[in-house]
Amino acid sequence: MSFTVAKFGGTSVADYPSMRRCAEIVQNNSSIRLVVVSACAGVTNRLAEIADKRGKQTESLRNEIYTIHSSIQQKLNRSSTLEASLSQLHDELEYHCQKPTENWGAWRDELLSFGERCSSLLFSCVLNDQGTLSDTLDARQLLKTNSAFGQAQPDDVSTKSHCLEQKQKLDCGCVWVTQGFIGSDDKTQTTTLGRGGSDYSAALLAAGFNATDLEIWTDVAGIYTTDPRICSSARAIAEMSFSEAAELATFGAKILHPSSLAPAIKNAIRVFIGSSQNAAAGGTYISANPTTRPDVRAVALRRNQTLVTVHSLSMLHASGFLARLFEILARYNVSVDLVTTSEVSIALTLDEGGSIANGQALLPAAALEELEQFCRVEIETGLSLVAIIGNGIGRDAHISQLTFNTVNDYAVRLICQGASEHNLCFLVEDSEGENVIRTLHDRILS
Ligand code: ADP
Ligand code: ASP
Ligand code: MG
Repeated sequence: MSFTVAKFGGTSVADYPSMRRCAEIVQNNSSIRLVVVSACAGVTNRLAEIADKRGKQTESLRNEIYTIHSSIQQKLNRSSTLEASLSQLHDELEYHCQKPTENWGAWRDELLSFGERCSSLLFSCVLNDQGTLSDTLDARQLLKTNSAFGQAQPDDVSTKSHCLEQKQKLDCGCVWVTQGFIGSDDKTQTTTLGRGGSDYSAALLAAGFNATDLEIWTDVAGIYTTDPRICSSARAIAEMSFSEAAELATFGAKILHPSSLAPAIKNAIRVFIGSSQNAAAGGTYISANPTTRPDVRAVALRRNQTLVTVHSLSMLHASGFLARLFEILARYNVSVDLVTTSEVSIALTLDEGGSIANGQALLPAAALEELEQFCRVEIETGLSLVAIIGNGIGRDAHISQLTFNTVNDYAVRLICQGASEHNLCFLVEDSEGENVIRTLHDRILS
């Protein structure tokens, strides 16, 4: 029997008319039994701002959030239960902002959770109002994680057993609505999976409940050959492989959280991505065996990259240098993304996810100090990573030739290719990133 988990992103649940369109999608597909929602558009950004200010002098931000929620509530049939639940959540948020912050990461995650907790309540009410029986499930009782606040890692085994405990509930013919992005650790403290994490939540819960299908509803009709906001000639891709989609998500295509495909691949869950604003426009199906595997499928841009170059003459013909460097970075939880090496230097880009979520420096001062004891360190910011995603890249001289002819006019800081046959990527100045994407797209994909 088919069991679909449907996820609606922030713009899809931004206001009442948008929520109505999502409710119609649910009503038109009886296999959707679990809905995962993001916070209404703009709410998590405001909550993150409140967190940065430690809750102090944030009244206007809180009022803006209440206005977003109240304007949806006002369109619903009057229900004292909804009114009470929503005002209780808003009161909790007020109280939370006054509370001292011994563990800022834990306090911030609890604060961020209000966005999804309010939107899930409102969406469930929209469904009921439209005649679909619905109730909410607290994602913190389903999605179990470690305690890495801001960038928590899910515990698949514990999540699965918590989901299976609730599975019977799901069989009652009612549509359950839960929150994306949030989970809880083994002490039941609220955690979050990192910005954009609702896609990942939906995939983890689909795996937890043994779902057959995962639908990600967003503001574009599927995955495009590049970000349609950058390039107007970008085209929707009807079907692509898990590896292509995973590479694209990793290399910056915001449409999917980078980790979200792993649970789907592992559990053979079919994935569809479409536009909640225009469900009839179709979208992208992601499967293990798509009918086509073109040389180049898409191009992606990841902004705000930091490049660290480490120079040391003692590296020449020496062994153990890389191990020493990576041992220091690992000890400070610095996650490295791309690496290239020469005889006397190593260049690497840093993954901003974890550090930024926790308000830490990308490369902590103490780590830099340790590195500087045995090498010279150069740090460059303001760079963008351009990635070409496809199949058999590196085996086909034609793609590299076309790429390098195209970027001829731009200063390229680092090139990485060879570790995967699905991508070729390089760093350029942030100010040139979008132009490089448009030029590449026109030459290679149009
Ligand atoms: P949601 O709030 O639904 O999670 P996001 O804003 O996170 O939506 O992701 C959707 C956005 O991803 C689109 O509006 C688009 O600008 C961007 N995007 C980046 N790369 C791509 C791509 N290759 N195809 C489609 N959208 C892309
Ligand atoms: N609401 C969270 C965010 O804005 C998670 C998500 O939307 O996926 O990052
Ligand atoms: Mg998103």
